[in-house]
Amino acid sequence: MNFEDTPQEAAFRAKARAWLEQNARLRPPDEIAPNLLGERESADVIQKAKAWQTKKFDEGWAVLTWPKEYGGQALGRLEAVVWGQEEGKFEVPPNLYAIGHGMLGPTLMAHGTDEQKKKYIREMARGQVVWCQLFSEPDAGSDLAGLRTSATRDGDGWLINGQKIWSTGAHFSDFGMIVTRTDPNAPKHAGLTYFIVDMHAKGVEVRPIKQINGGSGFNEVFFSDVRVPDANRLGGVGDGWRVAITTLMNERVAIGAGGGAGRFKDLLKLARATRRNGRPAIEDSAVRQKLADFYIRSKGLQFTGYRTLSALSRGATPGPEGSIGKAVGAPLGQEMASFAMELQGTMGAVLADALALQEGLWQQMYLGTPGIRIAGGTDEILKNIIAERVLRLPPEIRVDKDRPFRDIPSGSVKS
Ligand SMILES: Cc1cc2nc3c(=O)[nH]c(=O)nc-3n(C[C@H](O)[C@H](O)[C@H](O)COP(=O)(O)OP(=O)(O)OC[C@H]3O[C@@H](n4cnc5c(N)ncnc54)[C@H](O)[C@@H]3O)c2cc1C
Repeated sequence: MNFEDTPQEAAFRAKARAWLEQNARLRPPDEIAPNLLGERESADVIQKAKAWQTKKFDEGWAVLTWPKEYGGQALGRLEAVVWGQEEGKFEVPPNLYAIGHGMLGPTLMAHGTDEQKKKYIREMARGQVVWCQLFSEPDAGSDLAGLRTSATRDGDGWLINGQKIWSTGAHFSDFGMIVTRTDPNAPKHAGLTYFIVDMHAKGVEVRPIKQINGGSGFNEVFFSDVRVPDANRLGGVGDGWRVAITTLMNERVAIGAGGGAGRFKDLLKLARATRRNGRPAIEDSAVRQKLADFYIRSKGLQFTGYRTLSALSRGATPGPEGSIGKAVGAPLGQEMASFAMELQGTMGAVLADALALQEGLWQQMYLGTPGIRIAGGTDEILKNIIAERVLRLPPEIRVDKDRPFRDIPSGSVKS
């Protein structure tokens, strides 16, 4: 198999590179790219991130795979990957749009009314407004269909009450996509309805959650009699599960492997720069063995990712095999980070960017990867998906699937 660019891809890469060189600073090869997992971005950083997105939009480098009518370039996924590889070499503001552009935009395109598409998608692409995903609740994560936040009819609109949690970026978001329970008498998957909610509306309260790495990238969000017009309903009443599945299928693709397994070169650099038993660590046979193991697993992951990409570029829809990337990549990233901290000896315990080796990359990754192993489907859920839908093993027993939701005791039955 040939992994080189085709002539068209090479030409596209050169064009992207030329634009980036004119508009951003190229990061020198030995400079560590910052690890932005779970930071709480300052107002200044958010402003810069929005300005960068709008500049890309205005000059034809945003949402490359989206149709032109929404400000995209109608390009293939491979071009988007090439763009991502090139942009990653430059110093650019953090991406506030992974959820909006990766998951919520495609959901709007699939289920929105013409009016909703016109009103929201182009603006979402332009990036002056940011969107968040309001799915998980304290008692509904893996078992998302067990959610309890309610939406009840109120004249020509709805009133939303309840609590969401782990809502990434809710603190700087203008809109959210929320799944609510509208019919507690229906079985749990059938009584759900999906809405667009204005995060600045009366009754929405966002509270930050402090993370172990010192950041707070996600939040609790409370809804008290939040009024949402019926025009903000995405899909039919009771059809929320089907709409949510579109978001979740896109989430698998948007998240990709995650976890930092792509940082192998930085690990190699560290093994060259640190010492073990009086010699460079890279000369130690146990270290070499470990590095070889990480390299093989990272490469396996990269090529599995390429296989998925080739299938998608040939027009396949994201399938359950997309779960493999994160199920393997996140634990691998965590193991690599743990090993890197071990290589650093006592310096492994230092987290402060200014003092830590490689600007604290591995310490941040060590503290961040457990979250990656949970976000967008835990390790166990991904393995269940692979078992049931790829390997066709017998499904889990789901005792509450067909019972009216009101009869399911809170917090005790999972499916
Ligand atoms: C960094 C981060 C960002 C996130 N961002 C968002 C966001 O923007 N919006 C949003 O809505 N949510 C977000 N989440 C929430 C995320 O989707 C949930 O945390 C995740 O789905 C797991 O749900 P839970 O936390 O309720 O854990 P639970 O579902 O309660 O799971 C607890 C444990 O039980 C295991 N388990 C559960 N069910 C099964 C089963 N059937 N078989 C085997 N094991 C099982 C799980 O694997 C896990 O180990 C984010 C989470 C993280 C960590």
